[in-house]
Amino acid sequence: MRQMFVAGNWKMHGNKADIKSLITGLNAMSDRAGNAKVAICPPALYVDYVNRSLSASNIELGVQNIAEEPVQGAYTGEISADMVKDLGCQYVILGHSERRAIYKETDAEIANKVDTAIRSGLTPILCVGETLEEREAGQLEEVISTQINAVVAKVGINAFKNVVIAYEPVWAIGTGKTATAEQAQEVHAFIRNLLAGYDEGVASGIIIQYGGSVKPDNAKELFSQPDIDGGLIGGASLVAEDFMAICEAA
Ligand code: PGA
Repeated sequence: MRQMFVAGNWKMHGNKADIKSLITGLNAMSDRAGNAKVAICPPALYVDYVNRSLSASNIELGVQNIAEEPVQGAYTGEISADMVKDLGCQYVILGHSERRAIYKETDAEIANKVDTAIRSGLTPILCVGETLEEREAGQLEEVISTQINAVVAKVGINAFKNVVIAYEPVWAIGTGKTATAEQAQEVHAFIRNLLAGYDEGVASGIIIQYGGSVKPDNAKELFSQPDIDGGLIGGASLVAEDFMAICEAA
């Protein structure tokens, strides 16, 4: 049995005042998560502030990116996996479509970052997903396979025991257009099958989250699908009530 896992991706949102009120809400409502695993990924600059304000012991922490280089060195502006770990984080979101599209991160760079994260003891949340054009051109399976195979080639399938995958159709992110539960389930099953081609044990154990306009009113149906093991939540993770309602649905 896989544990349900809901993670909040705050993206580049928040200031000290907003974060304080969000964390106050999460502290008060954290019991609603029940048996689900929960993590929040604030902007890295605020991780320590969040960590100190967070009293809910069932909510873990993560960040939204790391450098390819693991430790420290002359890499102006970068944040290493070791630093993230040092500040008490367990997770790092990697390969998010915004990083792929806006910052031109390649599959090779993402694979290196996954490798770095694992070596530093972080759990990567590896995001994969197709654009609307790719879906309509019938390239969905090819796109997802390419994104996943690049990482398997770098780190090996056994390392995926320490990886979470998030399937996020690009056309559903921040658009209010969720994939239907059936559409999402179909891709989740495809991903699990792809991994089973490498190792059946890894495939059956890996957590595959769905992300893209998950809200309190659609979470339950999505999470009830056999291959959907929770969600990666953007917009709704900035509202304590909504985020905890989604955790409750898991
Ligand atoms: P959204 O974002 O929930 O706002 O669609 C999800 C994500 O980008 O991780």
